[in-house]
Amino acid sequence: MSSVPLKNSYLIQNAHAILTGLTGDAARCSSTDIRIQSGKITEMGRLSAQPNEQVVNTKDCVIYPAWVNTHHHLFQSLLKGEPQGLNQNLTSWLASTPYRFRGAFDEATFRIAVRIGLIELLRSGCATVADHHYLYWPQMPFDGAAILFDEAEKLGMRFVLCRGGATLTRGLESELPQALRPEKFEDYMLDMERLVKHYHQPDSNAFRKIVMAPTSTLHSTTAPQLRESARIARQLGIRMHSHLSETVDYLDAAKAKFGMTPVQFCAEQDWIGSDVWFAHLVKLLPEEIQLLGQTQTGIAHCPQSNARLGSGIADLVALERTGMTISIGVDGAGSNEAADMLSETHAAWLLQRARKGMLATPQYEGGQFEGGADAASIEDVIRWGTVGGAKILGLDQVGTIEVGQQADLVIYQLDDPRYFGLHDMAIGPVASGGRAHIKAMFIAGKMVMENDQIPDLDMMELAWQAKQAVKLLQQRSMDMAKIA
Ligand SMILES: [Zn+2]
Repeated sequence: MSSVPLKNSYLIQNAHAILTGLTGDAARCSSTDIRIQSGKITEMGRLSAQPNEQVVNTKDCVIYPAWVNTHHHLFQSLLKGEPQGLNQNLTSWLASTPYRFRGAFDEATFRIAVRIGLIELLRSGCATVADHHYLYWPQMPFDGAAILFDEAEKLGMRFVLCRGGATLTRGLESELPQALRPEKFEDYMLDMERLVKHYHQPDSNAFRKIVMAPTSTLHSTTAPQLRESARIARQLGIRMHSHLSETVDYLDAAKAKFGMTPVQFCAEQDWIGSDVWFAHLVKLLPEEIQLLGQTQTGIAHCPQSNARLGSGIADLVALERTGMTISIGVDGAGSNEAADMLSETHAAWLLQRARKGMLATPQYEGGQFEGGADAASIEDVIRWGTVGGAKILGLDQVGTIEVGQQADLVIYQLDDPRYFGLHDMAIGPVASGGRAHIKAMFIAGKMVMENDQIPDLDMMELAWQAKQAVKLLQQRSMDMAKIA
């Protein structure tokens, strides 16, 4: 009998706990062992090793489905804690940080930013990333999409490119620096077609997807263009994503510009439904929540960025009750210095509860307080951060630990004092915060991390590159300010 292990054939044995991403009693499973073959979970229970499989002993470990991050701006991974934007609200921060620096990026600095962001996420147990990439302007000097897909592939991660961009601008076009000039709508849509043709996989276990994602539904295009983009997206068979109602300014702007609420405006342009998800949705009127729920629109909840910018806390409990799909996004690291999924889910767990103690603005809260100590269980947060995100991205074969699903899972070894004394180890990775040691991590059955290490990654080199890149970006942004 041969005892040579088959490639990507594993038996994960003796887990202390397995959380599945499912609801109710099924959220925790009584199995201790998981068999992985040909990229999938093929068996669960108490299993004995077969001669041709590699055994991963997970004694004292807790296993979760790998996380799915549904909103990010990876280029911002080199804009963390940027002093001019550090204590600013959304509007001022946008001008101070991402928009001030966007023209300073070139191919090399962009690639380093993407790499840092993806590695941060992977090291928290995240397998799937949807990046809202909006660095586009006429005569763009590099192909961001190619770099994003390339870096994700090197790490073995699933990647969804939400192709952002704007065809409108608030300033006079000819007076704007090149990096702030809008694209022509036709060019934007042509690039969408190119990206779909080149990268998009429609399958529910895909590694590459493309999404229509104008940077803001209210401000980035005209209303007829927005409507046309929805038609084209559905014709191409892709999903739609954007920012919405991050602050109360969205409501004021929509009322002033269009005489209706932001959600109503999106609905008028066919920008709503189970193939659409919005980041933030912090400030909503009760009728907007109803409309989003009825149409089963999704949300990427970004609690840390919303807290950092002082925007507020989305009411996930109310949104889920109306039928919306909830997912978690870290948002760009320019407004979240902890852009990893363990920090983000830890914050989501705490902040849903904290809502109850906050001063409410009755017109936004539907007159009632949500939140409190039972607002979100650890199991809820895991479900939002895994299968919720997978559903929103059209990846129905990932996000849960079940037989037949893609083997995307993370094994946390809780060997840090922060976990010592826990009565229920299963909640440790989310409840205790911080980064847990990853004993092993799998994406589509391939081991992408082992003993807390990413193969072939030189962390010192990456740290040095990051330092050099930050210096370069600072210098370039100062030079650009002089020219302007
Ligand atoms: Zn964002």
